[in-house]
Order: sequence, then structure tokens, then C-alpha cells
Amino acid sequence: MRFKCTLCGECCKASPVSLLPHEDVILRELAERMGLVYKSYPGYSMYDRVSGYNLAFSYVMDLIDGKCTFLSGNLCMIHNIYKPLICRSFPYIPRQVRYNIDSYNRVVYATAEYGLSLVCPVIKDDKRMLEKMLETNPGFLAEYMPSEYDAAGEMERIRSLMLTLLSTLWRLGIVDLESHRPGAPVYNLYLFLVKHYPDLPHILRIDQVMKKAEELVAHE
Ligand code: SF4
Ligand code: SF4
Repeated sequence: MRFKCTLCGECCKASPVSLLPHEDVILRELAERMGLVYKSYPGYSMYDRVSGYNLAFSYVMDLIDGKCTFLSGNLCMIHNIYKPLICRSFPYIPRQVRYNIDSYNRVVYATAEYGLSLVCPVIKDDKRMLEKMLETNPGFLAEYMPSEYDAAGEMERIRSLMLTLLSTLWRLGIVDLESHRPGAPVYNLYLFLVKHYPDLPHILRIDQVMKKAEELVAHE
């Protein structure tokens, strides 16, 4: 009754990978150090009237030749350095993320709806059992896939942290947010926040990830 990934690699070929803004920075750096092609584009963004930028709250990493650039055989090359949260939570993934803006109180926050992906053959096989268990015990997924469930929780905590920090800047008058403005230049939200919260890389342990990446390249 426990989910066990068979390392089939299907989830690394199924679709582009959604990333939080700091993950786009990490993965771009890792790909560069490893000599891999990396392509990504901003997902959701909001316009800041003060800086004149659309601040990107999420990114999408494109597949390269039908698979993730970090996939080698069926294995993830960055598993021991930094694996994106959505890869760690897979097959329990956000089906929809809504970013909400409260201009009166100067708050921006997200609501995410999670579900199981049928791209995963294990979920396909367990589908009936899961439907039955979830009917009687809605909290069953936390028992069935504790690591994936925790990773999803971490993803939402970090998303929420970034939006809370941004909302604070809004209330201080450092930013002034509105809906995405077509044509305005894009700025990664994480990189924007670091200018105002220099401890953020340490809080998100990005400094440790970069150290691991340096060690990896030094050993090659
Ligand atoms: S980062 Fe790793 S786990 Fe995620 S899609 Fe790429 S190869 Fe798969
Ligand atoms: S599709 Fe499922 S079983 Fe296959 S690697 Fe991804 S999580 Fe594991």
C-alpha cells in the first residue's frame, strides 16, 4: 500500500517541467556547468509599476529532444545535487496554481490544487485501489506516498514564502503590483527578492546546492 517509484523515467519525458523561480536559476547554472542545453520560459507573472518589470512567479523548463535535459538513460543526473520539487513530488502534482491579488490589502497569494498523474504507470496500476481508499480516507495519500506528499508541501511553503516577502515589499511601497503587462521585460521573482532579502539563498539552501555543484564539476 505504499507508492514505489520504478525509475521508469516516464515522468521525465511526458511534458515540460514547472519550476519555482529559484529552481530555474539553479537548473540553468547546473546545466551550464554540465555542458547541457537548457531552455526555459517564464510562466505566471505580475507587473511591478515601480521597477517596470513583469516579475515571474514560475518557470517552465522545456524538454530537449523529447526528454528532460538532465535525464540520462532512465536516471536523473542531478538527483543528488538538486532535484526540482515537482520532480520530487511526482506523481502528486499541482494540477492548477492560481495567483490571487488583493490590491486593497497589498497581498498576493497562491492556491494550488493537487492530484495524481496517470503518466505514472504505478498510479495507473493502483488507480482503483487509490479511488477506493480515498473515498473512505481522504488523507490516505500522505500514508501512500509520504516523501512525495512532503515535497508537495515544501513546494507550496516556498511558493508562499516568496509571495509573502513580495507582499511585504508591496506594503512598504517598494513594489506596486498589478496584472501581467504584455511587452514589459521579465525579471525572475527569486532574483528580484534577493536584492531586498540577501539571506534568501541561505534560507532556501541554494548556497549548499551551488557548493555541491562545484564539487561535482571539480571531480569530473
Ligand atoms: S530534473 Fe531529473 S527528475 Fe526532473 S524531469 Fe529532469 S531528469 Fe527527471
Ligand atoms: S513515472 Fe512514476 S514510476 Fe516512473 S519514474 Fe516517474 S514517478 Fe517513478
